[in-house]
Amino acid sequence: MSRSKRFNITCPSCGFAQEVELYEAINAATDPQLKDALLHNRLNRVECADCHAEFRIDLPLLYNDPAHNIIIHWVPVSGELTREAILEDFDRSIDEISGLLPPDVDTPVVRLVLTRVELVELVFMLEAGLNQRVVEYVKYSIYTRNMEKVNPRDYRLLLDVQDSTPEELCFVMQEVETQSLGSILRYGRAAYDSMCALFDESPEEFVEMFPGPCISARNLLLDDEPVGEG
Ligand SMILES: [Zn+2]
Repeated sequence: MSRSKRFNITCPSCGFAQEVELYEAINAATDPQLKDALLHNRLNRVECADCHAEFRIDLPLLYNDPAHNIIIHWVPVSGELTREAILEDFDRSIDEISGLLPPDVDTPVVRLVLTRVELVELVFMLEAGLNQRVVEYVKYSIYTRNMEKVNPRDYRLLLDVQDSTPEELCFVMQEVETQSLGSILRYGRAAYDSMCALFDESPEEFVEMFPGPCISARNLLLDDEPVGEG
């Protein structure tokens, strides 16, 4: 089931306060129209009743996809909420949830994402039947082979499922600071497929590299950076 709540919000352009209905959880199976709204960047969009400015309110969202037995939790990083704090908090709540579930229940996979683009990317990946850990491994190798051009500090690599072809996976570089999309990088599907074969043989190596709940080559690279520099 999807869940919404009324919130008091203030218009960022004129300061007008109003009460609006915003979604905190959506279920892709029962409410496909909400999934569509999310994918088209229309979810939790508000029009100011006074100056008619349009803006999006980002609040933590649970995306439940029972068909793929997965729950994706989007927790937007904001000034007071750092990535480290979010991850700690998340680990605690996962432990609590698993403690409450009866042992015979097929526990859904839980993923954590920190931006809307990553949530949308993951939704497309699931629907295309792509292996998220292998995709992140591909990104990892793109980053490490092109550190000059694709520095993980400045750029996010996003898989563009819709523009990918049977021959090539298509990745878009997004500048982290401005969120603007730039160059497109292509990666042979054959190389991806042979990596999937490796995954099927020994998934534990991929799981060790990307244990979750955040599965992200960029985060892995940023965490590995020497501390105290820059
Ligand atoms: Zn306004």
